[in-house]
Amino acid sequence: MKLLEHEAKTILKAAGVPVPRGTVITPQTTPELTLPVVLKSQVPIGGRGKLGGVVVVEEAAELESVINRLFALDIRGYTPTTLLAEEKLAIHNEYYFSIVINKATANIELVAHRNGGVEVEANDHASFLHFPLTTNNAEAAGEQLAEYLDLPGQSFVLQDLVENTYNCFVQNDATLLEINPLVLTADNKIMAGDCKMELDDAAAFRHADWQFEDTPRDTNFVTLDHDGTIATIANGAGLAMATVDAVAAAGMTPANFLDVGGGANTASVLTAFERIITYPNVQAIVINIFAGITRCDEVARAIIAARQQIDDLPPLFIRLAGTNFEEAVTLLTAENITTLASLEECLAAAKEVNHA
Ligand code: GDP
Ligand code: MN
Repeated sequence: MKLLEHEAKTILKAAGVPVPRGTVITPQTTPELTLPVVLKSQVPIGGRGKLGGVVVVEEAAELESVINRLFALDIRGYTPTTLLAEEKLAIHNEYYFSIVINKATANIELVAHRNGGVEVEANDHASFLHFPLTTNNAEAAGEQLAEYLDLPGQSFVLQDLVENTYNCFVQNDATLLEINPLVLTADNKIMAGDCKMELDDAAAFRHADWQFEDTPRDTNFVTLDHDGTIATIANGAGLAMATVDAVAAAGMTPANFLDVGGGANTASVLTAFERIITYPNVQAIVINIFAGITRCDEVARAIIAARQQIDDLPPLFIRLAGTNFEEAVTLLTAENITTLASLEECLAAAKEVNHA
């Protein structure tokens, strides 16, 4: 799951990483704010700065209108339910700092760049610092980072930063911890100007305290990519994973994994549809059911209910097989909903409508 910036910064702060002073604003409550203040839209994606989602307010008279504007501003399909108000930093320099899992080497890795901020993607790939992290090499990594960033006087501070973020990453079962910009302030402090954190949904069982906006309610439905273009509904964890893999192998981006399970009924499948349509970029839903205990007619009833109850449902490409298949086809045909003979046909049809 992706955390909002303010959620990630709360975790960072607890881990000993300096973050700007800040407070969360909801549509109901605007706290007293000290000016100047930076107002930041809390949507689960990057690039807010370039899209008008980060605004510095200097004048009290502007506050209310900027807050209202930010709550209404759609950022690539998301509008915020909260804003983060932060002290304005006197920024001397912006760096890129992240801790990632390098899948090729199976290492946790520090990745950094001397040119951070909103233009980080313009940097040449070869110019990033990559440093594999272990449980006891934060000092060496921090030293290397200080040298790379040309901040010799900040070596101890950067050693702490690496150690604290590494521990934070491991203890929180993170899959990504990105601080961009890592700010050097005019008075020589190193601070996390922004933070993007992704946590491993599969580790939820050992974090009873996880209560984020995006916390999964169950492990049968996993968000893979909020910006994915193809949603999936399948039954059985194996078939559900294979379906996701097949979508990816066909060159499309799966938005979710969903195992509707053996006891799938109309209500639970309908709930799945409701979650799927909250993704901003889904262009088709691929439904792949091999029914044993699950009954195809129950799935068909849910599909029909979804079509009746949910406006703007993306096109459905449906492959059903197994228990009560004939009954399902009869129900669907009466509603002019067609099924396809194989997952391959579903993917080919999805590809026709997939523009991403
Ligand atoms: P993102 O675009 O979604 O990654 O949002 P960021 O939080 O990274 O903000 C984008 C840019 O806004 C940063 O790179 C900074 O240049 C600027 N910015 C963010 N916070 C502050 C701040 O406290 N003070 C100042 N002066 N600029 C800020
Ligand atoms: Mn950023």
